[in-house]
Amino acid sequence: MRILVVNSGSSSLKFQFFDMEQESSLASGKVERIGMKGAILSYKRADGKKIKQVKEILDHTTAIDVALKTLMDKESGVIKELSEIDAVGHRVVHGGEELTHSVLIDDKILETIKDCIELAPLHNPHNIKGIQATQRLLPGVPQIAVFDTAFHHTIPDYAYMYALPYILYERYKIRRYGFHGTSHRYVAYRVARILKKPVDEINIISIHLGNGSSICAVQRGKSIDTSMGFTPVEGLVMGTRSGDIDPAIVPFIMAQEELAISQINTLLNKHSGLWGLSGISSDDREIEEAYENGNDRARLAIEVAAYRIKKYIGAYSASMGGVDVIVFTAGIGENSPRMRRLALRDMEYLGIKIDEEKNESIIKGKEGEISTPYSKVKVFVIPTNEELVIARDTANIVSFLR
Ligand code: ADP
Repeated sequence: MRILVVNSGSSSLKFQFFDMEQESSLASGKVERIGMKGAILSYKRADGKKIKQVKEILDHTTAIDVALKTLMDKESGVIKELSEIDAVGHRVVHGGEELTHSVLIDDKILETIKDCIELAPLHNPHNIKGIQATQRLLPGVPQIAVFDTAFHHTIPDYAYMYALPYILYERYKIRRYGFHGTSHRYVAYRVARILKKPVDEINIISIHLGNGSSICAVQRGKSIDTSMGFTPVEGLVMGTRSGDIDPAIVPFIMAQEELAISQINTLLNKHSGLWGLSGISSDDREIEEAYENGNDRARLAIEVAAYRIKKYIGAYSASMGGVDVIVFTAGIGENSPRMRRLALRDMEYLGIKIDEEKNESIIKGKEGEISTPYSKVKVFVIPTNEELVIARDTANIVSFLR
């Protein structure tokens, strides 16, 4: 079975094409600057053959059309005709309380995804555009939605409820939903394979550190708590998002700086986190470089971020009644030995002991263990693969339809 995976954002659309016999990725690509002057298509086939083009791409339908034509390109493509695409898997950010598993998209499901726009106004509308464009261009091909929130539907009510007036939950569904579920799920099942143990015998803390970051307590294969909440702003320190703050700071700054709602939202989402603290960049590479050169604000940003991770590890060890495995994943998790070292510093009391040499050696997409043989808690770096999870779910659902 051959599956196209689509991740459609506001101005970008990522795609990847899988052959599910070997679970191999045949080609992947990205269209950036959709609707802007000079959109860019970048594409890479598994054998390394690449395309990079500047094009006029005004909307998501054109972006999907360009992606499909690229997959069929005589020189660089991987298929001859569209009928070779058996199904399409879409990343959808928010499934709300109703959509708790990956599903075949029909009119009713599309309406429910639309109902979730209120909860994810920055993401779901663009995911929907990707779905509708694909439906138009590949009529009759099954389309599956895979939700970032779904893995977290097992979080118990005492962990997902905020202590706000209950009526706000009833009226607006204000509660913790959590995100990055596809990544945390991939990592948890990968750990089980590495250890050759059933996932329901392991307690895992999965730490996804990218531009957006979150940490998840996976108790015997199920998410029981995660740091992102009603929105992706809560929890860890991120590239430009604040993570946890005292909520009373919000009205205080709004009053002092005379900010409107949109401005405080921008401040918390775009001007905070590593960027706000360091004043250098939201990109961890640049901050680490400044740290090396003795910049104190860079040191501070990294220390605050690492300390926040450490606090959550403590909290989630308590939530799960112990932890067997800690995993780092995504851009920073896979590439920053410093962040991993600082986050796990002085945690021998919990049974966490890092092998410094191994820690330094695992970067750039490598998978491996970074704890010592004496560490009670095993620590791994595992490159995430959300697209593969989407392709697997899509293949599973489609095989039931046949
Ligand atoms: P996204 O959440 O957008 O998918 P990624 O998982 O790609 O993000 O992570 C992006 C982050 O990873 C950036 O902060 C980037 O600086 C960081 N990163 C990537 N490579 C390195 C590296 N070699 N060293 C440190 N940080 C890195």
